Amino acid sequence: MERKINTFSCPLCGQEMEEGYVHSRKQILWSDDPKERLYDLYDENLVPMAIRRSIKVPGLRCKECKVVLFEYE
Ligand SMILES: [Zn+2]
Repeated sequence: MERKINTFSCPLCGQEMEEGYVHSRKQILWSDDPKERLYDLYDENLVPMAIRRSIKVPGLRCKECKVVLFEYE
């Protein structure tokens, strides 16, 4: 399923953010702390890895602040 985030203002500078997609050749992981992990044993797998193709999720970015927001299921 493909969804799109509505227009948002940058949380840092307030300018309207540019719509697009975040692409990755690996899964996107999340942790509450900055500790290094030896394996992919992170707190949460936000976007699972796809087989033989890159993954993409809808996102918004601010080029000025170098901030990206992306949506995951
Ligand atoms: Zn900004």
